[in-house]
Amino acid sequence: MADQSQASVAYGVFNETSEHEKRVALTPEIVTRLKKSGVRCLIEKGAGDAALFSDEDYEKAGAQVVDRQAVIDGAQAFGFVDRPDAALIDALPKGSWVIGMLGSFTDQAYVDSLQAHGLVAVAIEKLPRQLSSAQSMDEMTSQNSVMGYKAALVAANAYGSFFPMMTTAAGTIRPAKVLVLGAGIAGLQAIATARRLGAVVTAYDVRPASKNEVLSLGAKFLDLGLDFSKGQGEGGYARALTPEEQAQQQAAVDAKAAGFDVIITTAKVPGRKPPVLLTKAGVDGLKRGAVVVDCAASDLGGNVEGSAPEQTIVTANGVQIIGAPTLSSEVATTASNLLARNVADVLVHYIRDGKLAVDLSEELDDKMVVAGRPAEPASADAASKE
Ligand code: NAD
Repeated sequence: MADQSQASVAYGVFNETSEHEKRVALTPEIVTRLKKSGVRCLIEKGAGDAALFSDEDYEKAGAQVVDRQAVIDGAQAFGFVDRPDAALIDALPKGSWVIGMLGSFTDQAYVDSLQAHGLVAVAIEKLPRQLSSAQSMDEMTSQNSVMGYKAALVAANAYGSFFPMMTTAAGTIRPAKVLVLGAGIAGLQAIATARRLGAVVTAYDVRPASKNEVLSLGAKFLDLGLDFSKGQGEGGYARALTPEEQAQQQAAVDAKAAGFDVIITTAKVPGRKPPVLLTKAGVDGLKRGAVVVDCAASDLGGNVEGSAPEQTIVTANGVQIIGAPTLSSEVATTASNLLARNVADVLVHYIRDGKLAVDLSEELDDKMVVAGRPAEPASADAASKE
């Protein structure tokens, strides 16, 4: 149990390294930053190894590098890349704070389990991103831009020809034609990266506002000949299309996709299963050697029919479908630094008079605290452990 007599807040981070996860929720740079806000950091041994931060790096920055149980016993708040599993939830003392992408839009049972264990849960996916004070906490933006960058590199690597046009003594090679579906944070970064590699890029998004952003990056905007002018929903995000609109969109995308060598999909609607943009018929219509990178691939399905997370499927007609939802983990050092800053800034937001506290009269608190909310606005200090 953390020593409550200390004025500082103790913050703990675990080793979350797994087959598909190399990131860590705290980096040495952020340890130093947190120290200035009166936060003591505890990190599990080896937690940063896969992201190329050694235990010594953390110690030099002023963190305590300890075993898992000592993190549990010593910290009041815990930051995550992924969310804690049932065993860890069980092990965390009542009153502990859990900060991360908790999946609260789609998994109420999980939020209920945090509540039942008496934890205070801050769901970063609920961050009101339009608030200027929330920009540095926006993990969706930081990790999606890393993902979009890497998606273009993965596609280029898997593609059997060049991205740029090249004139050689043995002939001229035409540039790759790349289609990016979903031009939000990830899509725009994929467009920029594919363009830097020399590809001819076209992009599409259901939000009319995205067209100018696509054009400003030197890409073409794909005209599907459909009017989804009301495609923008609350807070500047896409709305879910009706089943009829979705069928129209799929038919149009399937038809246009046949002209491209590489397709990168990043389309999501917050709190919902990703929309299918390219159906099996569309994939079957692609030329042999085409590469599809589906960044929305998930166990619930992705933007491309037949994609599967963390798998590369080669279809009978020689099309590679790469299910790549965790690409930010492949740029682990930078992705961790950005993510750690995002999570740390969320933590610091909740430190009031040297203690962790929820103030429901603040928009950020009201939106993001999904478990352990005080009964009355601004009345409770939920930080104290029992
Ligand atoms: P996201 O990851 O939820 O979605 C990715 C993209 O997929 C979005 O651009 C969305 O419009 C698109 N999409 C969804 N359904 C689609 C469909 N059926 N067909 C085609 N495209 C579809 O979103 P994101 O990238 O995190 O952010 C989206 C937008 O939110 C940004 O471009 C920006 O305008 C806004 N945003 C604002 C702030 C802010 O105000 N500070 C911060 C971050 C993002």
